[in-house]
Order: sequence, then structure tokens, then C-alpha cells
Amino acid sequence: MGSRKVTSSEPLDWQGKHVTVAGLGVSGIPAAKVLHARGANVTVVNDGDDARAREQAAELEALGITVRLGDGATLPEGTELVVTAPGWKPDKPLFAAAREAGLEIWGDVELAWRLRGPDAAPWLAITGTNGKTTTTQMLASILKAAGLRTAAVGNIGVSLLDAVLGDEQYDVLAVELSSYQLHWAPSLRAHSAAVLNLAPDHLDWHGSMEAYAADKGRVYEGNRVACVYNVADKATEDLVREADVEEGCRAVGFTLGTPGPSQLGVVEGILVDRAFVEDRQKNAQELAEISDVNPPAPHNIANALAAAALARAFGVPARAVRDGLRDFTPDAHRIAHVADVDAVAYVDDSKATNTHAAEASLAAYESIVWIAGGLAKGATFDELVAKSAKRLRGVVLIGQDRALIREALARHAPEVPVVDLDRTDTGAMLAAVQEASRLAVAGDTVLLAPACASMDMFANYNKRGDAFAEAVRELGS
Ligand code: ADP
Repeated sequence: MGSRKVTSSEPLDWQGKHVTVAGLGVSGIPAAKVLHARGANVTVVNDGDDARAREQAAELEALGITVRLGDGATLPEGTELVVTAPGWKPDKPLFAAAREAGLEIWGDVELAWRLRGPDAAPWLAITGTNGKTTTTQMLASILKAAGLRTAAVGNIGVSLLDAVLGDEQYDVLAVELSSYQLHWAPSLRAHSAAVLNLAPDHLDWHGSMEAYAADKGRVYEGNRVACVYNVADKATEDLVREADVEEGCRAVGFTLGTPGPSQLGVVEGILVDRAFVEDRQKNAQELAEISDVNPPAPHNIANALAAAALARAFGVPARAVRDGLRDFTPDAHRIAHVADVDAVAYVDDSKATNTHAAEASLAAYESIVWIAGGLAKGATFDELVAKSAKRLRGVVLIGQDRALIREALARHAPEVPVVDLDRTDTGAMLAAVQEASRLAVAGDTVLLAPACASMDMFANYNKRGDAFAEAVRELGS
């Protein structure tokens, strides 16, 4: 019978195929069930062996799926394909063994891509260090405004497997992809794709900035209509240049400045398209006004332009771009205006969990009392502080790694008053907001953009933002 390994060219006959699913979890469990239902012989391997894992294992075993708890390192005998949870690090021994055996390793995205039907909806894909969720939701909103059946899927709410195998019919999907997912998605070919920006993140997982960028760049592979890049971030354009795309696929830039030919940009407060128009040397198409973007912060206008570029690549009319942007409301904790108290605006950008995001956030306001700190995840703060110093009225620091920010402030903004709260308890947020209100004067913005992860003080960034909003409400009462 020869080799039964699953390869890219092989038709997908799952009957009796030995598939190892790595990781019980949000992607592993549905993957195991789907493959089992198609006749594959599925073994799930999982590092953990706690009560929850046992419960999940029992559910799968009842269906006839084999589960091996407490050992995610050894490749089960006879494996012909590995399907992994996207977060599993590529240097795991399980993968080394799989590669050694010449096996393919698919992540959740690759599995969805390979299982989609022949008439499946094309994918408009979005990745980048920051802004993915917002841009993907903006894109879905624009596509809906154009009357298309669509959903925002991927690294957001709805799983790709559900979107691809469910009963709902789609014309096109707006797909958010993380660098991990892209790493494990070798044959994915999007209709068009965007890399929003590239800044160091998750380097411990990828091993290096080059490897991280290369995984992001995979989103452009095989694009048919447009590779959308950020004119202000040369690394994204370099990725387009390196990508192997379909004949005729175009590189389309987005910029906050005046767009050149084959770009979308901004002219006198209007978002304009100089890419998907007749005679782009001379013409531009008005899409929307800056005030149609919610919130109209510079980085969010960039997100809107990227979403618009993908929608236009799919043939969406200009009017739908405007309507879709107007209909869009961002998820919580992303530059959310909480309240004005004594003519000071309080803004929750708890989702700014890295320095690149915080820098974008700080660039959106003129005079800021900045609440920052938390878990730095190995980041340095010199560049962020140096770039933002002139906007800072004052700073309030909380959280475990706050000394790193304090030292950067001492180096690059010695004149800015800093309150170091020296606290990591949950009540610290109330104290932080009170301190910030003392530093602020009328017209200022108190901005929670921590540039750090939240887990030293809160369960997650949502809880941190909620604590901020709660503290602001107390202030105003
Ligand atoms: P992601 O899904 O990539 O984490 P989100 O849309 O959830 O992105 O936004 C996360 C945070 O990143 C926001 O709260 C904001 O601080 C910041 N952000 C959003 N868009 C951008 C952008 N284009 N450039 C830089 N930072 C951004």
C-alpha cells in the first residue's frame, strides 16, 4: 500500500487514517471530533492531566477517540498526520519526531482550509502585531454593508472549523490570523491579505524576529488579488516582495498621508482609494470621512484603510465602506471613552498589552496622564517613552514591572511627574485613577494604556479595564 502519509497533493480520504491531535482545548477537541466523524483513527495527546483534561478526555473516549494524557511529547506509533493546537511551540519533541518521520503538521487554520468544501467562500485574511481584531471586525462590517453574507472568524469568537463546516452559507470570510496559526498553515491561500504592522512580540515562541516576520508573511502566499501592506511599516512591504503570489496579484499600500497610485490614504480628512479605481494615475475615489471611523485615532484610521483595501479588493462599492465603518463599534477596552470628569477624558485601552500598541494609543492624544505597568514580558520601554514624552502631563505606575517604565521615564522624560504606586493588589487601580485625576488638568486625557500584560494584578485585560472604569465611576460620583 506504500506510504499513507497525508500530503498536500493527496485527496482527503480520512477513512482509517491515523491522525494525532496535539492538545485538548478550543481547537483540539473540535478537530478530533470532526476527523473521527470522517472515519479517521484519532489519538489526542495532551501535556496536562488535571481534572478538566480528564473530563474532556472521557467525553472524547466515549466517542471512540483515544486520548493520552500527561504526555504530549511522544509521537504515537503509526501516526500519518499531526494536527496541532496553534499555541504549541514548534520546538516540541513531538514535532521533531513528526518531521523526522516526514509527516505534515497542520494547525487549526490548515485543517479548516483543507476541510472546506469545493464551493467554499474565499478568505480575506488579516494579521499583524496589533489591530487584528478591530480590522477584521471593520472588514466584516463593510462586507455586510455591501449585502454580502460574511462573518469575522479565526483568532476571534467563531472558530474557522465551525465557519467552514457549519450550515451557514457565506460569500466571503473576514479571517483574523495569529502568527502561531500562520506558522502551522502551509497551504493556506487567501483571496487577499493584509499585514497591518510588525513589532517584536511572541519572540520566545518563534525564536527570532526574522522567524516571527516570516510566519506573518505567510499570509500573503498565493494571494490572488491584493497583498495589502502598511506604507509606514517597511517590514510589511518587504514581506509582500518576498511572497509568492498568483499572477496579476497587486501590492496595495495604506497610508495616513496622501496616497500614491495603488494606495489608499487620507486627503483633507477624507479616506480615499487610489488603488481600485479606473486610471489610478489621475483618479481617486472618496470612501469615507475620518469622522466615520470609531474611534478616529490615527492607528484606527490605519485599521479602517486596511479593512477598506481588502473590501475593495473583493469588489465592494465605496458607499459600503462608509456605511460599514459607520456601523462598526469596537470591542471593549480598545480606546474606550469611559467618562469625562471635571473636563478630563478617561480612556480605557487596557488591550494595549505591548509597547507598540501603547505607542499608538499615546499618539492619539495631545496631553495625557498615562496609567501604565504590569507584566513587561521582556519588553523595553525606552523607545516608547522617548516618542511619547512630549505628550505626558504625568504618569502613574502600577504592577510588577513598573520599575522598568520608571527608569525609562527618568532617562527620557525626567521632567514628567511620576507617581509610583508600589502596589500590585487589585485595589491599586482605584488609587491609580485617583492619583491620575490629581495630575490632570482640564482638557487632558487620563489614558490606561499599560504597555504590559495584566496577569500580575488581574485575571485578564478585560478585568483590568473594568477596574479602571469602576474607579472612574467612583471618581465621578
Ligand atoms: P489584536 O487583535 O491584534 O490584539 P486589537 O484590534 O484587539 O488587536 O487591538 C489591540 C490594541 O492594539 C488596541 O487596544 C490598541 O491599543 C492597539 N492597536 C490597534 N490597532 C493598532 C494599530 N494599527 N497599530 C498599533 N496599535 C494598534
